[in-house]
Amino acid sequence: MSAYLDHAATTPVLPEAAAVLVEHLSHPGNPSSLHASGRAARRVVEESRERLAAALGARPSEVLLTGGGTEADNLAVKGLYWARTAQDPARRRVLVSAVEHHAVLDPAFWLAEHAGAEIVLLPVDAEGRVRLDALAAELDAHATETALVSVMWANNEVGTVQPAADVVALAHAHGVPVHADAVQAVGQVPVDFAASGLDALTVSGHKVGGPGGIGALLARRELALVPVQHGGGQERGVRSGSLDVPAIAAFAVAVERAVADREATAARVGALRDDLVTRVRAAVPDAVLRGPADPADRLPANAHFTFPGCEGDSLLYLLDSAGVECSTGSACQAGVPQPSHVLLAMGVDEADARGALRFSLGRPSTTADVDALLAALPAAVQRARAAGLAGRRTAGVR
Ligand code: PLP
Repeated sequence: MSAYLDHAATTPVLPEAAAVLVEHLSHPGNPSSLHASGRAARRVVEESRERLAAALGARPSEVLLTGGGTEADNLAVKGLYWARTAQDPARRRVLVSAVEHHAVLDPAFWLAEHAGAEIVLLPVDAEGRVRLDALAAELDAHATETALVSVMWANNEVGTVQPAADVVALAHAHGVPVHADAVQAVGQVPVDFAASGLDALTVSGHKVGGPGGIGALLARRELALVPVQHGGGQERGVRSGSLDVPAIAAFAVAVERAVADREATAARVGALRDDLVTRVRAAVPDAVLRGPADPADRLPANAHFTFPGCEGDSLLYLLDSAGVECSTGSACQAGVPQPSHVLLAMGVDEADARGALRFSLGRPSTTADVDALLAALPAAVQRARAAGLAGRRTAGVR
């Protein structure tokens, strides 16, 4: 029995979205062209934009279509920073939570290296929640030097849902704009752009049953954004590039569906996740559930553990060879596995952080997937521990 438990990395395209994608692939017409085919393509784009806006609580004119979540995050962080520093060169501080995805962290650090930004990593508590007292203190001390705040709606590794409303309230009290990466949140928890008060919000297609390489930045009309890429002036001049009509149409269908089905999916997947957590704890009693203790504070599809004495990568490969696919959540640098910056920011020590595995469920997940994991996990943990011990002995560490 095999099991795909990595839906947070990407999830299959919904049949309705796939049908729309295929339908539009054979239609001619660039939405920027003036002839009938171009106008027909433009209609598809604008209808899709309206559907995306309606599903996410935004106005159609606030939807900037991008080539995915990473691009939308780059546009938010760099575009806002450049616009704010152009208005006031003193505003060089970029406040980001320490548990952001690299699609936010890396553009921020790029700005520090190339554009004079000063990055402030906002600390998080042991459950991965941003420390509002630290944010308040930073803003109290340096509001007039602050360009922007970026705190994700929900974390991709440990599933922590962030207090977005509190972040917005604090930042707006000082006139500082706020961006949130909601790539993992859409379809799992309610996301309403207008109600959130956010200035900008990132969405990605392939996490919600749409195709990869398509996403959006929702941005308030009044928000000044300097473009990251230049060319044909599409998307209010902020994001040049010919629009990918089939992907946009499929993205809209997927987001609409994910939002409409959210409550039912979250209830079913959340129950399955709770069962997975209970069974992993029973099978491996010293496994540590990371992220929020209260399931209500965690994305319903997420379960994240550290397994003491194991290398997450060894466990991942052992499970993979048993047909169970999951993720460590952390990156490799030059082939060397690195402990997750998210876990380290939560205060997990480096040795424990190395034993991390994330199991993420999705719409197609069933009890059979959890059964397959539990059939393979105890032996995999035993072998990974033995390998870890042997490795430490070879290296002279006891
Ligand atoms: N932000 C978060 C929280 C993510 O989980 C991901 C994907 O892993 C991204 C951004 C990047 O999105 P995309 O794959 O559409 O570029």
